[in-house]
Amino acid sequence: MTNESVPAQPSSVSGPDPEQGARVVADDRAHLFHSWAAQGSVNPIPVAGASGRHFWDYSGKRYLDFSSQFINLNIGHAHPKVVAAIKEQADQICMIASTFANDKRGEAARLIAELAPADLNRVFFTNGGAEANEHAVRMARIHTGRAKILAAYRSYHGGTSTAISLTGDPRRWANEQSGSASGNVSHFFGPYLYRSHFHATTEAEECERALAHLEQVVAFEGPSTIAAIMLETVVGTAGILVPPAGYLQGVRELCDRHGILLIADEVMSGFGRTGAWFAVDHWGVSPDLITFAKGVNSGYVPLGGVIISDQVHETFQNVAYPGGLTYSGHPLACAAAVATITAMKEEGIIENAARVGADIIGPGLRKIAEGHPSVGEVRGLGVFWAVELVRDRETREMLVPYAAGGELTRPVDDVVAACKERGLWPVYNFNRVHVVPPCTITDEEAREGLAILDEALNEADKYVV
Ligand code: PLP
Repeated sequence: MTNESVPAQPSSVSGPDPEQGARVVADDRAHLFHSWAAQGSVNPIPVAGASGRHFWDYSGKRYLDFSSQFINLNIGHAHPKVVAAIKEQADQICMIASTFANDKRGEAARLIAELAPADLNRVFFTNGGAEANEHAVRMARIHTGRAKILAAYRSYHGGTSTAISLTGDPRRWANEQSGSASGNVSHFFGPYLYRSHFHATTEAEECERALAHLEQVVAFEGPSTIAAIMLETVVGTAGILVPPAGYLQGVRELCDRHGILLIADEVMSGFGRTGAWFAVDHWGVSPDLITFAKGVNSGYVPLGGVIISDQVHETFQNVAYPGGLTYSGHPLACAAAVATITAMKEEGIIENAARVGADIIGPGLRKIAEGHPSVGEVRGLGVFWAVELVRDRETREMLVPYAAGGELTRPVDDVVAACKERGLWPVYNFNRVHVVPPCTITDEEAREGLAILDEALNEADKYVV
């Protein structure tokens, strides 16, 4: 702790104040340890406030948030109904242990179960997505009496030890090297037509071959050793990969054939991101367990959880579940979830995400692609889109290679810098820029952001061969 800390102004009243901004950064650099970063290279922008689809720094510079922060602010910044619900809950009761019944905790669980498919009727609350996946896997292992989990190479499931071992992306590697990832996970390739691992040329072919591949992995890993197949319904960070028609049904069928549970990680894709409450709704597939976090209350207070089918729940009816959390079902977080879900229903926020994706973002990105030789593919749904950048449209060579660091990331760094300079805050991963604004985005804001992205992509075009 430092004596020199000066509390920041409340966001609603703060105006430009660069000196305060400098103090905020100084405290951060002196005392904060940042996620996924070499601490010496961290240089955060001090944020003074946020509202709707915008946030701003202490110099008064505003950014249109095309990132939803960590793709979690589905309802946007500072939604008045959610803020009011948190304040009201704080006045009533801030904390009561999960051994007690609490009104908002029960209501949040009921609302979530009502939205979930089929017989997913129970909710175990966690503080975030990684914990949700940890517990879903634990439930699946105990329910089936099997240890192994299959997960996709192109995936991110969280930063704790089981969740990072499920993760397919390179963030897993250093954790394996240091012994920080737990075992009993095997990986497979999911469908990704643009870079098909199966030499497919149509969605139908990709679907059929990806399912045949998964069936082979199951056969060679030993069906009776596999507790669950975990997948992101729509793969998020690792590419915004929308599964072809029939894929999820095929995985469900494969699971049923071998007594394997299907776990859908909807931490990123749930609660409106794809223009549906859950991404599985698009395909009518019912998993055994769904994990969620982020959009459930937009992270106003940390919350995640597992939605549990009656069948899995039955396993723990008379046998204790060996897991728990001090803050499971935190009243402030649950009150925020109730207010979020209610506001999403009242204000048609899910419908807005679906419509803006179909009418503005999708067509807008396809138009942008026509004008930029660096754009290999655009894909997505709802407010969940990727722009995949290439050096050469013919060979599809990635503009930034997989897992690249240092100078090799320059082409996409340049695009991102050009966006930020013009007041747009995007998300990027290797050779992709993701367009993932809040579900509340207006048509005008979506058009404004796309226009900036269009200009910024001129930077990428400079690297096309
Ligand atoms: N699963 C998915 C699909 C995610 O995108 C994330 C985070 O981005 C997680 C799990 C981990 O969630 P958390 O960071 O809340 O632990």
